[in-house]
Amino acid sequence: MNTEFLNPKDIKSKTLSEMQEELGALGLPKYRALQVYRWLHRGVTDFSQMSDLSKALREELSQRYFIAWAEVEQKRVSKDGTVKYLFRLPDGEHVESVLMHYHHGSSICISTQVGCKMNCSFCATGQSGFARNLAASEILSQVQAASLDAGERISHIVLMGMGEPLDNYQNVLRFLELVTSQEGLNLSMRHISLSTCGLVDKIYDLADKRLQLTLSVSLHAPNNEIRSRTMPVNKRWNMEELLKACKYYSDKTGRRISFEYAMINGVNDMDWCAKELASRLRGILAHVNLIPVNDVTGTGYKKSGLDRQQRFVSLLEERGVTATVRRTLGSDIEASCGQLRRKVEGRDRT
Ligand code: SAH
Repeated sequence: MNTEFLNPKDIKSKTLSEMQEELGALGLPKYRALQVYRWLHRGVTDFSQMSDLSKALREELSQRYFIAWAEVEQKRVSKDGTVKYLFRLPDGEHVESVLMHYHHGSSICISTQVGCKMNCSFCATGQSGFARNLAASEILSQVQAASLDAGERISHIVLMGMGEPLDNYQNVLRFLELVTSQEGLNLSMRHISLSTCGLVDKIYDLADKRLQLTLSVSLHAPNNEIRSRTMPVNKRWNMEELLKACKYYSDKTGRRISFEYAMINGVNDMDWCAKELASRLRGILAHVNLIPVNDVTGTGYKKSGLDRQQRFVSLLEERGVTATVRRTLGSDIEASCGQLRRKVEGRDRT
């Protein structure tokens, strides 16, 4: 595991083997490290709660380390049961998470960065700028804090909140290792999705790791002209390069790629866009998720109408590309990401 970005005092970001090594160097046996690890992953926020450790050891640990946590600062509950959290981090920064309930269990959409550098023109997160990466422990804390607050086990995770997960790659990989560990929350990698705007170098790297997670790629356009207008990342890696990396990913992992496509009235929702998109995706194990674009102050974008959405699905399906219109949950509570933080921190540029 690459430890380049690890704050040495952040104990919850450590893997079990790192903890065993470190506490071993303090003269502690392996089972002690395991006890500490289990407490941290059960969501304790203070060493004093680790009741099976001696008082002296608890004190020593609290002098050497801190326990990262995400404090619920605001919570909104939608009519459909979706819960939006605004979490406050120890340094006063804020991130958002959304807890959704499906027939297969509870799923949480979590953030990987405070803000984002990618500046997609339709996205609220980018509008408030980038502050910093989250540590693995802070990504994990969102799952723990929501689970504790809601009193339920969370079985599915989507890395689709604020931030670009592949722009915080090492910490995200570390989080994946923690959250799937047997002694931790023990989630199945198959129940985790990672959404990226298309950092091609990292997609290749991830493919070679052959993790069983689902890769979602935010495409949102059928060609470079539209994509470069709405997503600056397209100027770094264009669609040809991105789709080549996606094909490599699905060939290497055998996993279907989920392409996200936010439908914007008159920008990317015309018939020819669906036809061009279908021809682009030929040969890639793909599914297209259509999302009516969420209103974000200042963008001027309007969502496509229902008939447009259905027409787009049929045009794709006729061409052999499976597509669905994503059910929007929590639209009454501004559940789409970036909206709450922007309000709380007064970073609205508009
Ligand atoms: N940076 C990652 C993940 C965070 S954004 C990514 O780009 O995929 C999560 C998803 O919400 C992305 O698909 C993003 O393009 C989409 N999104 C952002 N703003 C939106 C809006 N106003 N309406 C619909 N989808 C939006």
